[in-house]
Amino acid sequence: MNFDLKEEQKEFQRNLRKVCEELLRPKAREVDRDGKVPEENLLELAKAGYMGLTIPPELGGCGMDMVSFLVGTEEVARCCPSTALVASTSLMRFGLPTMLYGSDGTKRRLIPLLAEGKLRGAWAHTEKEGGSDRQNLKTVAVPYEDGFSLSGQKHYVLNGPEAQALLVVAAIGGQEGKKGVFLLELPCSGVECGPEIRTVGARGARVSSIYLKDCLVSRERLLGGEEGPSGEEIERLPQMPLVLAGYSIGVGQAALELAISYAMGRTTFGRPIVTYQEVHFKIADMFVNVDVARQLALRAAWLIDSGKGSHVESSVAKLFASEAAESCALLCAHIHGGASLEEGSDVDRILRDSRMARVLGGTSEMHRMLIAEEVLAGRA
Ligand SMILES: Cc1cc2nc3c(=O)[nH]c(=O)nc-3n(C[C@H](O)[C@H](O)[C@H](O)COP(=O)(O)OP(=O)(O)OC[C@H]3O[C@@H](n4cnc5c(N)ncnc54)[C@H](O)[C@@H]3O)c2cc1C
Repeated sequence: MNFDLKEEQKEFQRNLRKVCEELLRPKAREVDRDGKVPEENLLELAKAGYMGLTIPPELGGCGMDMVSFLVGTEEVARCCPSTALVASTSLMRFGLPTMLYGSDGTKRRLIPLLAEGKLRGAWAHTEKEGGSDRQNLKTVAVPYEDGFSLSGQKHYVLNGPEAQALLVVAAIGGQEGKKGVFLLELPCSGVECGPEIRTVGARGARVSSIYLKDCLVSRERLLGGEEGPSGEEIERLPQMPLVLAGYSIGVGQAALELAISYAMGRTTFGRPIVTYQEVHFKIADMFVNVDVARQLALRAAWLIDSGKGSHVESSVAKLFASEAAESCALLCAHIHGGASLEEGSDVDRILRDSRMARVLGGTSEMHRMLIAEEVLAGRA
C-alpha cells in the first residue's frame, strides 16, 4: 500500500486548504452562532472542486477518487465542521446513491447542480421510534397506479430544511416489505419539512424531520427499480462511513492545532505551559489519535479506489476516528483550562462539534456490532 498523495491530489489539497483557511475559517464562529451554512460556502467549495469531487466529468464533476474525498473532507472540517457536514452529505449520502442507481434523466438534471454547489441533498432513513433499528421502519411506499404513494415520518434529516432533493427509505407494499430508496425533488406535493431540530454541535448543518403524506411518485423514483438496493445496503457502501471519518479527522486536527497554539501563548509560574511535560503528553496523545485515524481512513479509501473496498475497513476507520476526535477535543479543552468553559470560544465549538461523529452515520455501537459480525464470521 502506498498512501503518498499523487501530484493532482496534492494540488487539490493545497488549493482547497487555501479556500478553507481564507473563506471558511473566518466565518466558522458565525456559522455556529447563526445555525446556518451560507450558500457562498458551497459555491466556493464547488469552485475548488470539492462539491463535484467524485462526480464524473461528463456530469460536471472532477472524477477524482475516495482518497481525494477523504483529504478534502478533512480540510473542510478542519476549518468549518458544519460546512463539511452539509457538503459531504450532499455529495456522498445523496449524490453517490443517485449516481450509482438513479435514472439517466435524474442524474443529468441533478448531479451537475450538486457539483456546482447549487443543490443540497439529504438522506432520510432514521425514524423516531426505530432509531438504529433499520428494520423497524414505519414509512411505507404503497403501489399506486404506475408508481407509489409514500407516507410516514423521517427524523433527524441533515440538510432537511434546505434540501432541494432527498433520498427517502420506505418499506415497499407495507411495513414488512423491502426497504427501497426513493428520490424526491423538493418542493413536492405530500412532503413537508418538520420543525428544525437544533443540535449542540455542527450547528450550521441544519436538521429537521420530514413528513410524507400520500406523496405520489413515479416508478422511476425508486433507485435501481424493483431490484434496487435497500436503505441498509446503501448505508453499507464502503464510501459512507468515510464521510464521518473525514469529518472527525478534520475536527481532531483542528483540536491539536488549537491546543498547541494556546499552550505556546499561555504562561503560568513564569513559563509557557507548552514547556510542561504534562502538556507534551496530551499533545502526543492527540497527535497519535489523529495520525492513526488518518492512516485507517486512508487505507479504507485506498481499498475502495483499488476496487477492494469493504464496509469493515471503512467502519473501523469511522469508529476509531469519531472516538479519536472526541478524545482530542477533550484534551484540547483541558489544555485551555478555564478558557475551555467560555461559551462561544473556538475550543467550546470544537468540543461540541466533536460529539457529532459518534452518533451520525451509525453509532459507535452499531459499527462495533458490524465489525464483530464480520470478524466472527471469519470475513475480517
Ligand atoms: C444531528 C444528527 C444528524 C443526523 N442526520 C441523519 C441523516 O441525515 N439521515 C438519517 O437517516 N439519520 C440521521 N441521523 C440519525 C442518526 O443516524 C441516528 O441518531 C443514529 O442512527 C442513532 O439513532 P437514535 O438517535 O434513535 O439512537 P438509538 O437507536 O435510540 O440508540 C440510543 C443508544 O443505544 C445504543 N443502541 C441502540 N441499539 C443498540 C443495540 N442493539 N446494541 C447496543 N447498543 C444499542 C446506541 O448505540 C445509542 O448509544 C442524524 C442524527 C443526528 C443527531
